[in-house]
Amino acid sequence: MNSEEFYYCPRCSHQLELRSWEGRLRKICPACQWIGYENPLPCAAALVLNASGEILLVRRGVEPARGEWALPSGFMEIDETPEQCCLRELEEETGLKGKVIRLVGVYAQSSARYKKVLIVGYEVEARGKPSPGSDSQAVAFFPPEKMPPIAFSSHRHLIEDFLISKNRRFQNKGQSRKEGQKAVSQAGEKQAGKTRWKDRREEGRKGERKNE
Ligand SMILES: [Zn+2]
Repeated sequence: MNSEEFYYCPRCSHQLELRSWEGRLRKICPACQWIGYENPLPCAAALVLNASGEILLVRRGVEPARGEWALPSGFMEIDETPEQCCLRELEEETGLKGKVIRLVGVYAQSSARYKKVLIVGYEVEARGKPSPGSDSQAVAFFPPEKMPPIAFSSHRHLIEDFLISKNRRFQNKGQSRKEGQKAVSQAGEKQAGKTRWKDRREEGRKGERKNE
């Protein structure tokens, strides 16, 4: 929950006060002691490869980033595991039923709309021909070296990490992060300009994983 927009207690309607609590300023209800914690919103994303090693992307039909390409992804419901969320979103957006193979990584990202989101990214096995669901405009597989610009920095990190680990597994040799970035960015970054990698540096990869 993001308490930034609350002025009155959502539990008892008393006016909230800004108080220092556990080293942070938080909105607190002096009547019932409700505390307005601010936490990132959890999402899951699916990375699906076809038999040719191409990556499944969705052209988003809803904000944020409507009309842009991203991995199939969405917000976790209260009664789901991250894996269930990932497979549900995959099916809703592409029509494909999948199976989680492994966790690729966990990423925090700033969001104008939700302040901060936490993306849990899985490699998913799914067969069949994808078709766009109600909240996607199009779905398609792209070779890693010919991908369109990807809407979210977290999804780009996820794809990089996936490609790096995939190459390690299949070639049994190390690959630098730069090479992973190159694979993701070759096609897309030229079109999108160079600002996209900048916001990644600003967010700070270590900070994202350790602190948020
Ligand atoms: Zn209250």
